[in-house]
Amino acid sequence: MSKELAELMFPDIDKTPEYYEELYPKRNLPEGAIVTRFAPSPTGFIHMGSLFTANFASRMAAQTNGVYFLRIEDTDGKREIDNGISAIINGLKVFDVQFDEGPTDDDGNEKGIYGPYIQSNRKHIYQAFAKSLVEKGLAYPCFCTEEQLNNLRTVQESLKVLPGYYGTYAHCRNISEEEAIEKIKNGDRFVVRLRSNGNPMKKVKYHDLIKGNIEFPENIQDIVIIKSDGLPTYHFAHAIDDHLMRTTHVIRGDEWVSSVPLHLQLFEMLGFEVPNYVHVAPIMKEEDGSKRKISKRKDPEASASYYKENGIPKESVIDYLMNIANSNFEDWRRENPLASVDEFKVSIEKMGVSGAIFDLVKLADVSKNVIATFTAEKVYDEGLKWAKEYDKELADLMEKYKENTIAMLDIERTGNKIRKDISKWSDLRENLEYMYDELYFSKEREYEWQSITDPNEIKTILAKYMEIYSDSDDKDTWFNKIKDLAESLGYAREVKEYKKNPENFKGHVGDISTVIRVAITSRRNTPDLYAILKILTKDRIQDRVNKLKI
Ligand code: GLU
Ligand code: ZN
Repeated sequence: MSKELAELMFPDIDKTPEYYEELYPKRNLPEGAIVTRFAPSPTGFIHMGSLFTANFASRMAAQTNGVYFLRIEDTDGKREIDNGISAIINGLKVFDVQFDEGPTDDDGNEKGIYGPYIQSNRKHIYQAFAKSLVEKGLAYPCFCTEEQLNNLRTVQESLKVLPGYYGTYAHCRNISEEEAIEKIKNGDRFVVRLRSNGNPMKKVKYHDLIKGNIEFPENIQDIVIIKSDGLPTYHFAHAIDDHLMRTTHVIRGDEWVSSVPLHLQLFEMLGFEVPNYVHVAPIMKEEDGSKRKISKRKDPEASASYYKENGIPKESVIDYLMNIANSNFEDWRRENPLASVDEFKVSIEKMGVSGAIFDLVKLADVSKNVIATFTAEKVYDEGLKWAKEYDKELADLMEKYKENTIAMLDIERTGNKIRKDISKWSDLRENLEYMYDELYFSKEREYEWQSITDPNEIKTILAKYMEIYSDSDDKDTWFNKIKDLAESLGYAREVKEYKKNPENFKGHVGDISTVIRVAITSRRNTPDLYAILKILTKDRIQDRVNKLKI
């Protein structure tokens, strides 16, 4: 009998589960290889939490010689956008997350033999399995209308019982097959529900590779597996896809933990081997002393695109994500500042059970260290790429004065005192501003004078300095000249000397060089002054001294 019902429900389905089992054979991979996936809805938006999980999952697959694939979960049509698939692929590629299998663009091109990788193109597969469940009496058609289901909810609320479609409340579970057949022949719309075999008094136990041992009551709900549009629900698609795509590890957000009893039940009823579950806690934000999930709505940093816009290099973002994924990464990075992040072995065991704090201040710190390892050319290239998109004026200047800009970025980039004044490309404007006359003179400068503030004294120092300054001086000569100048004006040649007898001097050589630094750059902190002056050259230095307003 059930065969007739199944046939009526799925008249177009002629394939059986066995057919698909053969079509998608077990993967021939080395022992321990992890097959896992990224399974987003094609909303085009990449949440940092997803990137966190994707970065971790793709590394787990790569370091075990496994497979990382992309599966588009588009069975909920409302959430789709145009170019959703390429937006995801490109958005992740920015951070070097790439897929071994899956859709490659919006045009239906795919790589891998376990496809289609877009769920809406797998409708016939889900239906074949649903059909087989109906044949076995493990699933049934439900004809309840929206209104009937609302009434059910009201009744259950007033009785204060567990809400849902289960047991005696599962009306269509108990209608006869004849009645069901008649309704279908009559053209009544239906969904397909699982005939749950769960016992509310029994517990399911399972071992999550991050969360450890977890126990939940068995699922008793006759959940919908196929919706009235013929497409599967998330739960059903998860079981079918992760089985047929031969996923070994389901690495996903921990909002799914409570659905595991249902998923285990589905795997069992479908006769599938259960995959490993790896539930990743969401990334959190600390705010006013309490923790909350990073939210797409409230936090701009929740979006992966935020980092591109602000010019935070992908290397920094990935290093930081590794930092919060595995706490031993930080030490490893300290010992291996130049190593590729691929050399670090990520581990599931070291993932936190509760959500890691994601903090932009800490990220900036990590980023400074990452950028400190870049060559001046790389800083220039990446910075320029960013500026072309987000700061056109800066980009033009960087291109016009390419050589000087690279020279400027090269100051203190090697040796034992490495500059760490850039954490993102949007810092470059401030860092480079005083190297470009166009920017430097475009606004009233504020000079951060330090110990010497008397305008006459400053003017005297600068006038005398310009008499002795020469572009051809080497660094020692350059500095000795400043010392001579200091001495001639009543300042100590050495800071030590001054400290011993401060009463004998107006100040020391450092005060003199600070006046020069501030007069020429308008700021008190810069990389090596000698190198800066060398790049500017005497004419431009003189010009700045002339234009100084004090
Ligand atoms: N489409 C689901 C989501 O975006 C995927 C969850 C999973 O990885 O199984 O939450
Ligand atoms: Zn029903």
